[in-house]
Amino acid sequence: MQARYPSAIKASNTPFDPVDIALITERIVCKKGSRKYTDFYCTGVYGGISTAYAVGCNLRCVFCWVNWGRDYPHNTGQLYSSQDVFNTLVHNAQKKKIKKLRISGGEPTLCFDHLKAVLDLVNKTDYLFILETNGVMLGRNPGWVEELKNYSNIHIRVSIKAGHEMGFERRTGARGDCHILPFRAVEFLVESGISFHVAAMTDPRLMSKEENLTMHEKLKYAGYSDYLEEEQCDPYPTAIARLKKAGYTLWKE
Ligand code: SF4
Repeated sequence: MQARYPSAIKASNTPFDPVDIALITERIVCKKGSRKYTDFYCTGVYGGISTAYAVGCNLRCVFCWVNWGRDYPHNTGQLYSSQDVFNTLVHNAQKKKIKKLRISGGEPTLCFDHLKAVLDLVNKTDYLFILETNGVMLGRNPGWVEELKNYSNIHIRVSIKAGHEMGFERRTGARGDCHILPFRAVEFLVESGISFHVAAMTDPRLMSKEENLTMHEKLKYAGYSDYLEEEQCDPYPTAIARLKKAGYTLWKE
């Protein structure tokens, strides 16, 4: 019998392998070099950025704010070729006179060939592409980091979700031993010389002081001692619903 595709996790979740879920998700959201997206828009983060909102992720973070396409990718979004994505990103950026582009809403490293095809096009321009990633697939595939070295105008933001196995399992739904993959991505990125920084969901309502210290030690071990962007959990309706399902109450009802 085929396993059900994992949606938002409960407190009693059975941990999944995030690399397996990446491959399963790719089969749903990627077809012949195209990927599913739900929207294209500009927003004020990073001082203004043109955004393609992709469908599909390989984690199930309880604090995640993205739309329900993360959980139900079969029924969400439309396929866009890399050329369509690039054209729309640039068209929207030109209208707002901004110089940064990104893929958000899902994990951009899923459908890696599609991402590279977008980056090939961006590389011929003077736009900066911000690659926001949970680091799982980059940690699993050091060769991918090597390939990203070919792009001169990218900056990578690796988002760490937990400092230890238990925190990772409880807050992302994925197998605890895989918590090390984003730290390995950081290690590979340090070695590569690619422009990047680390963000982390260190909201004290979710991550204890002890786990936070462990996370800092692991970042140090990975060779990273630069700026850490500390994230707080915001009360988006999707985040509230996911937290509630997983047994967290962060805000009064
Ligand atoms: S927070 Fe990011 S990595 Fe986590 S489930 Fe949402 S999109 Fe995926």
